[in-house]
Amino acid sequence: MDKIVFATTNAGKIKEIKEILSDFDVEVVSMKEMNITADIEENGATFEENSLIKARAVSKLTGLPALADDSGLEVDYLNGEPGIYSARYLGRDTDYDYKNNYIIDKLKEAKGEERSARFVCVISLVLPDGREFVKKGVMEGRIGYEIKGENGFGYDPIFFLPEYGKTSAEISAEEKNKISHRGKALSAMKELIASL
Ligand code: IMP
Repeated sequence: MDKIVFATTNAGKIKEIKEILSDFDVEVVSMKEMNITADIEENGATFEENSLIKARAVSKLTGLPALADDSGLEVDYLNGEPGIYSARYLGRDTDYDYKNNYIIDKLKEAKGEERSARFVCVISLVLPDGREFVKKGVMEGRIGYEIKGENGFGYDPIFFLPEYGKTSAEISAEEKNKISHRGKALSAMKELIASL
């Protein structure tokens, strides 16, 4: 396998994924680089279903192996919200300062362990011959009391990592890739690709 299409239009994710797979002897191209503009409807009920929907569609469109991730933030105090709706939460075009402040405000009565949350990432690989593989990664943390840090993207500035005493927007991309949901799911996927 020498070329894989990554089925996302999220620039933050593409950057992380190219970094994580950079030591790997396979060219990762984005949908944009393949000139695919199709809007794939993510109508699954789980991270697993949504990542498979995207990978199947892009593999079919390109005739190439396709990787897709579906990820999001689960906040226990909000019964798992925003979950699979993380990107769409409060509106797809709403800026993350607003979304992050909204979540902090919703948790104003929550203390300590009640603030537990996790980032989840499910990565699927669909091959042109129809074979499908799914890997999952999780990063546990807590919702912080304030927005902090400039790195990362999305909900990173409110995702507090107790063992670092920092949010995932305050650690470097390199550190984040080692412990992140996406880093874990991708390294499992890397092992699988190597074995194919
Ligand atoms: P997806 O494109 O449907 O997988 O959307 C995932 C959404 O979850 C992103 O747009 C972010 O809002 C959020 N998310 C996933 N991973 C991360 C992360 O590593 N940091 C911050 N937010 C994330």
